[in-house]
Amino acid sequence: MTDIQREAMAYDVVIVGAGPAGLSAAIRLKQLDPDLSVVVLEKGSEVGAHILSGAVLDPCGLDALIPDWRERGAPITVPVREDNFHFLTEAGSVRIPNWPMPRLMSNHGAYIVSMGNVCRWMAEQAEELGVEIFPGMACSSLVYGDQGEVKGVVAGEFGRLSDGTPGPAYEPGMELHGKYVLLAEGVRGSLTKEVISRFDLGRGHCPQKFGIGMKEIWEIDPAKHREGTVTHTMGWPLGSSAGGGSFIYHIDNNQVYVGFVVHLNYANPYLSPYMEFQRFKHHPMVAELLAGGKRVAYGARAISEGGWQSIPTLVAPGVALLGCAAGLVNVPRIKGNHNAMLSGKAAAEAAHAAIAAVRSGDTLTAYETEVRNGAIGKDLKKVRNVKPLWSRYGLTASLMLGGLDMWTNDLFGASLLGTLKHGKSDAASTGEARDFARIAYPKPDGILSFDRLTNVAFSFTNHEESQPPHLKLADPALPVAVNLPRFAEPAQRYCPAGVYEVVEADGAGPRFVVNFQNCVHCKTCDIKDPLQNITWTTPQGGDGPNYPNM
Ligand SMILES: Cc1cc2nc3c(=O)[nH]c(=O)nc-3n(C[C@H](O)[C@H](O)[C@H](O)COP(=O)(O)OP(=O)(O)OC[C@H]3O[C@@H](n4cnc5c(N)ncnc54)[C@H](O)[C@@H]3O)c2cc1C
Repeated sequence: MTDIQREAMAYDVVIVGAGPAGLSAAIRLKQLDPDLSVVVLEKGSEVGAHILSGAVLDPCGLDALIPDWRERGAPITVPVREDNFHFLTEAGSVRIPNWPMPRLMSNHGAYIVSMGNVCRWMAEQAEELGVEIFPGMACSSLVYGDQGEVKGVVAGEFGRLSDGTPGPAYEPGMELHGKYVLLAEGVRGSLTKEVISRFDLGRGHCPQKFGIGMKEIWEIDPAKHREGTVTHTMGWPLGSSAGGGSFIYHIDNNQVYVGFVVHLNYANPYLSPYMEFQRFKHHPMVAELLAGGKRVAYGARAISEGGWQSIPTLVAPGVALLGCAAGLVNVPRIKGNHNAMLSGKAAAEAAHAAIAAVRSGDTLTAYETEVRNGAIGKDLKKVRNVKPLWSRYGLTASLMLGGLDMWTNDLFGASLLGTLKHGKSDAASTGEARDFARIAYPKPDGILSFDRLTNVAFSFTNHEESQPPHLKLADPALPVAVNLPRFAEPAQRYCPAGVYEVVEADGAGPRFVVNFQNCVHCKTCDIKDPLQNITWTTPQGGDGPNYPNM
């Protein structure tokens, strides 16, 4: 749609995404130079609306960014008091004592937080410093300069009709230009994907690996609530069919964050990560905790798992990748918020220095150097072999080998294994249906477990129905022609929001239906479709989940 005329606004730095990475970058830029003009664009209806809250936060990132966050009233008030790790069998559980666990796995000094609320608070800090933050503004495309550098983004386009043509209330949006554009879109960002491909930033690095994380917030019986308790589990119900595990975090107000992560390199196309999560809650240990409580929110989001080996080149002319857009999660710790903040700070420092030297639109190599050689690199390097070991040898062997490797790295700063590579992409790991048996999942009971559509209602997701579907099929025929016979069309099961269905009606044969209105923006389809036929693009700003402020 090149004929569309848009107004352009110029800033020093344009930041896409008001998560911990983007907000940290914005805050740091204004700390360094209050005269810099900085804008943050966020597709959620408000800051925090798309942040899958409920995390154990290592405060090292915030300590570096806002050392007096306690005095400033940050909503970070529940220190971790108890740290448990359980190996589950179908009916039992074995608690693994803390002493053989590598030190870096300890949550001592960390806090249980609502990251949505932390981001809302960070946005206030940024605005006090003069950052302009525009929620409800999806950045739908990139703007390139004459030399091919990234020069800006298009944001705030509204009112296209379902066939893609501009409707009566069409708003073309604006171009926001910056000397530098910082992409802080989180995992599998749509603009990030374009930048990685256009500048070949994945070359020389392993493919990124992912998991799908699902989470429910429960209000439980106060008698069972133990504020500050963190529990992680592995084992049942996944067993050897897929990697992953659970987390249960007791925050305040009798609330508990109950979550489940499934590594997306699983082979069995009949596996449903969502139903594994629902089944997990029927384990006696979990069922007993949740009995008498109620689920008050649900959400899902992919999580990057490739770690050190999969970090792409982070910079190209005019642009840098931050936080989970760059895949900076420490997988065994299931923590990425601290590195997101540290990367935002580092990108801001590099951009500030460049602008002070009257540069623009070039490559911020100082940022890449800081990420790889600084605190983030040290954090991720130590755990770099855990995920490849798990993929190769399964849960039990990798627990021992990975644990040993983390100890060696922690104590001696080196690994006996060197750096193990990741294998295939998660999409390519999907096996053919003929090689696997169907999995008969128990029907949700509506008390502890819920069907997907009931749960999606608790993500408060909303999409304007008259817009073009934001989930684009490169070839609309492939789901039925290829995915259905070969892979039993796994989109029906890997999507945690019930977006994809194969329906048969009136003897007309199977039809692939995309209920994009349900999409919770987790990006799993973009990652796991075996043919890579689905591309997640931004819908209109303000659409998507509205994760509650709790
Ligand atoms: C289930 C689960 C549990 C987790 N638990 C923990 C934990 O306990 N501790 C921990 O430290 N980490 C945890 N993580 C990881 C953590 O969530 C991420 O590392 C962190 O969110 C990364 O921050 P970010 O700012 O890079 O991206 P995000 O937090 O994802 O923020 C990105 C923001 O950008 C916006 N955005 C994206 N694209 C666009 C666009 N094109 N236009 C405008 N806006 C856009 C999004 O709406 C979003 O608000 C968990 C992740 C998952 C999925």
